[in-house]
Amino acid sequence: MSKVIVANDCAIEAIALLKSMFANQVASITQRELTADDLKDTEALLIRSATRVNRELLSRAPKLKVIVSATVGFDHLDLEALAERNIVAMYCPSAHTESTAQLTIAQCLNLTRSLVLADKAIRKDYWRTELKRKASLEGMQLGIVGFGRIGRRVSELAKAFKMQVVAHDPYVEQDRFEQHKVKSLGLIEVLKTSDIVTFHVPLTTETMHMVNEKTLEHFNPKAYLINASRGGVINETELAVKMRTGMLNGAALDVFEKEPLKKQSPLMELPNVLLSAHMGAYTLDALEQGSMEAARKIVGYLQNGEISDSLPPKQEWAKHLIKFDS
Ligand code: NAD
Repeated sequence: MSKVIVANDCAIEAIALLKSMFANQVASITQRELTADDLKDTEALLIRSATRVNRELLSRAPKLKVIVSATVGFDHLDLEALAERNIVAMYCPSAHTESTAQLTIAQCLNLTRSLVLADKAIRKDYWRTELKRKASLEGMQLGIVGFGRIGRRVSELAKAFKMQVVAHDPYVEQDRFEQHKVKSLGLIEVLKTSDIVTFHVPLTTETMHMVNEKTLEHFNPKAYLINASRGGVINETELAVKMRTGMLNGAALDVFEKEPLKKQSPLMELPNVLLSAHMGAYTLDALEQGSMEAARKIVGYLQNGEISDSLPPKQEWAKHLIKFDS
């Protein structure tokens, strides 16, 4: 009987907003799959990436008008199936910029200061004997691949650490780089010249396995690689092979080809790879911002037909989106 269903983690303020607008017509169902009975009257769904919106789910929701994902990624939505049913799909592309940019800087600091290793060493009573001295961030060149919202924010934060910043993004006008005082380079030049290379691209047919055995040849062996974008951007098997042969100083990976990362992954055995569990947006602030933005979008659409940040995105790169795998 619910007009609006909140299907994943959501800030209580956002649920309160929905309840204030649609009294007794909002349900929060987060601990189990949504059944046909749950969905039979539902007009709006507020989700996160844990809910895969495929044809099967849509077939259980005959009255669905709008889906809002409180996330930046949207690869969990079958956009073709939504378009066929004329269901409006929106996302919240700005909600996680700050938290993901901060995670990227945390990864830069962790890689260069070995904080995780230091913690393990001290608990084993080794103090500093096992730790190498490494170069610190000031004066290092940070290469950003994908100069969108997160890439640009990372560039601002990196400058506070006195890093030199270069970037590669074929879809961004030159004046955007100039505004941020960031040098625009080709991909290979970024890989060759940077001390740390960080990826902030969407997953498309162009960016799929952008890091592979061929492109890894161009990295400086003393460089570090960071990926907090989408796992498919890196060919993990080829990365693991190259890292075993000492072709990179270290890597920090927040996202993986298959999540959660399996114990058998070759990445698990590499001591110079820092792993985190898709935590770019895993902060209270990011949850609140995403949830509130998504709840406002639902209210705006159901009350006034307002649409913002509709999917698929209008940008040029979205012509290369990967087909949804149900
Ligand atoms: P955005 O759309 O603002 O920026 C992406 C940029 O990548 C754009 O400027 C685009 O022009 C560029 N791009 C597209 N194709 C490219 C190519 N072939 N080569 C180089 N650049 C290319 O997106 P954003 O908000 O900055 O997010 C970036 C990525 O981070 C997305 O994949 C998003 O899903 C991911 N993300 C991850 C987390 C996490 O938890 N780790 C959190 C938020 C976002």
